[in-house]
Amino acid sequence: MKRKNRGFVVTLDGPSGAGKSTVSKLLADSLGGLLMDTGAMYRAVALLSLESGLERPSAWANLARRLSFDVDVKSGVILVNDANLGDRLRGEQVSSMASRISQFTSVRKVLTGRQRTLGNRLSKRHPVVVEGRDIGTVVFPNSRFKFFVTAQPKVRADRRYRQLKAKGVKGISVASILREINRRDRQDSIRKVAPLRCPEDAVIVDTSKMPIPQVVLFLKNHIESKLLSV
Ligand code: C5P
Repeated sequence: MKRKNRGFVVTLDGPSGAGKSTVSKLLADSLGGLLMDTGAMYRAVALLSLESGLERPSAWANLARRLSFDVDVKSGVILVNDANLGDRLRGEQVSSMASRISQFTSVRKVLTGRQRTLGNRLSKRHPVVVEGRDIGTVVFPNSRFKFFVTAQPKVRADRRYRQLKAKGVKGISVASILREINRRDRQDSIRKVAPLRCPEDAVIVDTSKMPIPQVVLFLKNHIESKLLSV
């Protein structure tokens, strides 16, 4: 059977460290589609603001306005002014700054607009998995496919600890990572604009006990059964 429209948007929200990025990437691949990592956009504005010593929300929003964002179709990474910012986006200082700048309406307004335009363009031809915190609630509230991926904080801290250890990072503990996870969750959940919350019509998946391949299969089956039911 030939589908009329090959593209659609899948929204995937949830707290940091729940396995969201891995699940989104694998889901996008298994659908033959693309991943759009909206956290990378907040991180890019954070990184470039830190590098330029910008300290005011209006300066962060102006910087965001001057940036162009795209998805590299081959690797799935976010391109910022045509460049892959790679691991520079992943440091703890950038994580913390991204969470800080994302509190401000002026910054969110610019990035939400960019995410909608890019997602709409890409989804004309591909299934697009859009990953973030407010995708199903604010950016694409009309998507037919919404998921909220979560896991218990302790499980998320253990996973992060193992990742950092594997990278050779020293002087870390599960307890300090757990504190940072709880702090970021709180900051993301209590902010006034577009707080992290589960969309009412989302399917909730807890990855604490379910292995990642099983989660991906579950999401894929859910999408395909909905597509077939139209
Ligand atoms: O997902 P990731 O950890 O890369 O996101 C970095 C930060 O960007 C998050 O802590 C959150 O504060 C912010 N963010 C957001 N809305 C999104 C995506 C990310 O506020 N849609």
